Amino acid sequence: MTPRRWNGAAAVALCLLCVAGRAEDLSPDARVADFLAWERAEWMRAADTAEKKGYVTLARRCVAQITRRDSGAAEDEGADTRLAALREADDGAKLNAKTRASLERAVAKVRKSVAAKAASLATALKNADDDRAPELAALALRNDPASAAARGVLGHTRTKGWGWLDATDAARLKAGEVPVGDGWRPKKGLRRDPRPWGEQWTVTSDHFRIRSNLALPRVFALRDLLEMLRDRFLADWEGTLPMVPEESRHDVFIFAQKSEYDTFLKANDPTHIKGVPGQYSPTHRRATFFDVETLRAAGGQTSSLEELMLHECAHQLFYELVAIRATAIDSNDSPNAWINEGLAEFYGMHSRGKGVLVLDRKAIRGMLRTIQVKKSASLVPSASALTAMTKGVFQSPDGERRVTNYATAGFFALFLSEGATRGAWQRVVREFFCNGNSPDAFAGSMGDFAKRMDESFRKFLAKL
Ligand SMILES: [Zn+2]
Repeated sequence: MTPRRWNGAAAVALCLLCVAGRAEDLSPDARVADFLAWERAEWMRAADTAEKKGYVTLARRCVAQITRRDSGAAEDEGADTRLAALREADDGAKLNAKTRASLERAVAKVRKSVAAKAASLATALKNADDDRAPELAALALRNDPASAAARGVLGHTRTKGWGWLDATDAARLKAGEVPVGDGWRPKKGLRRDPRPWGEQWTVTSDHFRIRSNLALPRVFALRDLLEMLRDRFLADWEGTLPMVPEESRHDVFIFAQKSEYDTFLKANDPTHIKGVPGQYSPTHRRATFFDVETLRAAGGQTSSLEELMLHECAHQLFYELVAIRATAIDSNDSPNAWINEGLAEFYGMHSRGKGVLVLDRKAIRGMLRTIQVKKSASLVPSASALTAMTKGVFQSPDGERRVTNYATAGFFALFLSEGATRGAWQRVVREFFCNGNSPDAFAGSMGDFAKRMDESFRKFLAKL
């Protein structure tokens, strides 16, 4: 070793000591407290900016980052109070798409820096054998699922095609095995496609666990679409609706054949609803559906597998992410059941954009045509008729009427979520899921607008 090299190494070592030294001065407790105080200030500042510019929905989402965090932080009354106040306010009338986009970019930056700091703290805690490391890593991943440092703390490895896996599963994959059915099996000789149920794939993403016997590339595409659905769902509702911690992945079963779906439900869910292509069971916390496109040849089936999946999994996210009072929704006399199905239909009207879920205007027009060209045109209910239906009436035994009710509820949800009614609509949805389910809740929240909604909604449909 030459003296010159030696000096260089010493300088680098000294420099690292300087950087690390400042942090090392603090105890782990103080470092965690420091981080949480800094993070809180960042979100509050972002919320201030968003609120000032009239983007209240985004301000709520920012404050929700503080009220939701679980990294050993004490109850935060200030944040709770602020969130409650923000829930009473609506997005500003002058808020436009450009302002919205620029505020969202600013919040994305906050997310990135929170993720980076949380990941570096998690790494330091792990090195100090502090058991708060996984929580901080999880916080980092919530803000940036791609954070390699946070993945490292949790022992995850990035794999090709299977996303991030823990060390055991990554080793199996490396050894040439793949998850099939309930276990891992050698990849060789498993190429038949689609596979019979019983040899289904188990494909996990950050937030979903999918079992499916469809062709593997198709399962991957559906998995990506599900993550986009969840992102979009959070962008729409986080902070606006009270959320529960997401403790495990959401279970989704996608069958290639109708017969496999029927057999599975018969054996695993005696109370399942017969004669529908998909359902979400709150009891089993499981979305199940089959590839409806296989029925297309037989006629009568117009929706795609993607639409069906977005519909059922939107139900799933409302049930599994929101602090719901389910009893209010499930009764057959329940008023406002159209809200539940309208929201699911609304997400079903979306498709994959550039990495995000976007409204699919073409699909919407197609769907509208289907209910208007058939004899069901006369079945399309007015907004006031729709909102007066109990669940029993809404889910009519007459198939054509039922389909029309569902589609109309979806269009009405779309109509209400755009423009001046957005704030009132957010309050209606909150009321529906969280505070019981009174028959007058809708008209009460809509105020004077309820009187002219039939005409406005008719005009909206005509313009689609
Ligand atoms: Zn539904």
